[in-house]
Amino acid sequence: MVVQREKCEILTPSVGDISDELQQAIERHGLRIARGALPLLGAVVGNDQNAMQTLVNEKVDGWKKALDLLACEEIPTQLALLVGRWTMTAKPSALVRTLPPTLTTTSLADFGKAVLNTMQQRLNLCLEGEAKQLFQQPLGAGGLGFCPPAETAPYAFLAGLAASSLAIRPSNLMNGEQKGSKVEEGWLIKQLNDCLSRHIKPFNLEWPDKDALTNSGAFFTYFGDTDKRQRCDKVQAKLAGTFRAHQRAELKQTLSPETVSRMESRANKASALIWKAYPLTQDFALTDEEVRFSVAYATGQRLPHMPERCSCARGTPLTMEHTVHCAEKLMRHNMMQDRFVSFARLHGVRTRQNPRLTYQDAKEKLEPDVIFYPGTHAPVQTDVAVINPCAPCRLRASRYGHRWASKTKKAEKTRKYRPNAVAMGHIFRPLIFETHGKMADEITMTLDMLASRTPMSRGLAANDMKLDLAITLARGNALAARTTIARAQRARDASRTVHPASGDNCCSHSRNRSRSNNTRSCSSSSSSSSSSSSSSAVAAAAAE
Ligand SMILES: [Zn+2]
Repeated sequence: MVVQREKCEILTPSVGDISDELQQAIERHGLRIARGALPLLGAVVGNDQNAMQTLVNEKVDGWKKALDLLACEEIPTQLALLVGRWTMTAKPSALVRTLPPTLTTTSLADFGKAVLNTMQQRLNLCLEGEAKQLFQQPLGAGGLGFCPPAETAPYAFLAGLAASSLAIRPSNLMNGEQKGSKVEEGWLIKQLNDCLSRHIKPFNLEWPDKDALTNSGAFFTYFGDTDKRQRCDKVQAKLAGTFRAHQRAELKQTLSPETVSRMESRANKASALIWKAYPLTQDFALTDEEVRFSVAYATGQRLPHMPERCSCARGTPLTMEHTVHCAEKLMRHNMMQDRFVSFARLHGVRTRQNPRLTYQDAKEKLEPDVIFYPGTHAPVQTDVAVINPCAPCRLRASRYGHRWASKTKKAEKTRKYRPNAVAMGHIFRPLIFETHGKMADEITMTLDMLASRTPMSRGLAANDMKLDLAITLARGNALAARTTIARAQRARDASRTVHPASGDNCCSHSRNRSRSNNTRSCSSSSSSSSSSSSSSAVAAAAAE
């Protein structure tokens, strides 16, 4: 075996001298000496806490250099968000699992802030108050997954120790221990006890393996049991999960009802998909502007320079929720429908479509959007709908309106289309999307139906199709918002024009537009806007 000497270092205690004999041996081999602490495999080892602290700080500062790269305009915002989230949550893993929170939390908290600032800079968006809190919630809980790494560092350390229990029990760290009763309190054991008393006991929570989390002796006895090796599996996820669930319950008490609805509406797997998409192909890539809007919409953070009022229905307040359902809904609907038809074509399933030209058209007809002919069973009639669960009028009616928004829509669609479908011997499936990303079970069923038609080597996986739909929905939302905001800006500018001569044709055009806007009402659900709104919106879109 050849030892690479330049990669070798000798760690010596920070106090006391080393013997001449050792000193000579080190010099003879040309090795370096580190006193007190040494960086090792993504972590730091040693017995000098100050030296260890310095090394931890240096390591975390090194990560910040990578953030400068993410701030570059050349990297797509979508990719910057992906890498940023990974840097914040996965990168500190080795450090927090091996070192006690006393050494890691300060620099990690600092690093968490640096990541957040870089992301805001890339998004050109200042996240404030509740929007910032949502941004920092886990993906599965309806946030954007930028969880501060310092918060859960104690649980990672406990899990790391639990996993090392097998090695720690027979070591001299446990001197004096007689059958698990007494543990001599060295530095590591003191840190463990500190962690248990500060981060486990004060919360009245049902921790997993709670009895083992009372003192260090019981801790090592429990996790060091060789017959129950799997006890230390997933401890970190369990502890951090329990902590986060508790934190979330408390957060919901302080957040505004709108933010709670937004968070609850997004707390599902499909809503998190857009944040997991790698922009490897055009299909999964979002433009910087689309990502910016998606983040603003997900967190409820108002875009800067957005008018206060919408141009519809006598100045409805222009909230982030309002932007996605006031205009361009038909366009978004058709975008989603097109994806389903493309998927069917890829899997060799014949389809028949009923194109929608206006929303009025959709309302009156009793024909569904797409009929799939899978061949193996009865044809499947489907109707695509995109609804906003957090539409202001829905939440005004009930604080929990978002919880049954999809269900209500599903019942409505089923009532409308099912009888006809059954009469023809067809199956009917409403394909309901929520603007925040949730997808109804019927969507999964339809995608599975398509995926199962082709062998493994051909066609798309159901999950890839789902991801594609999530990306398409995000694009559709961004388009709807862009149209709504632009229209509101035009109306605002027109109302500011005081001198009649200062406006030319263009100005009178926008005044006409805003007058016609006032006559129409703005509705919350995707399928019930008036025909004038959608036809003018389609005309506007065609003109663009
Ligand atoms: Zn509006």
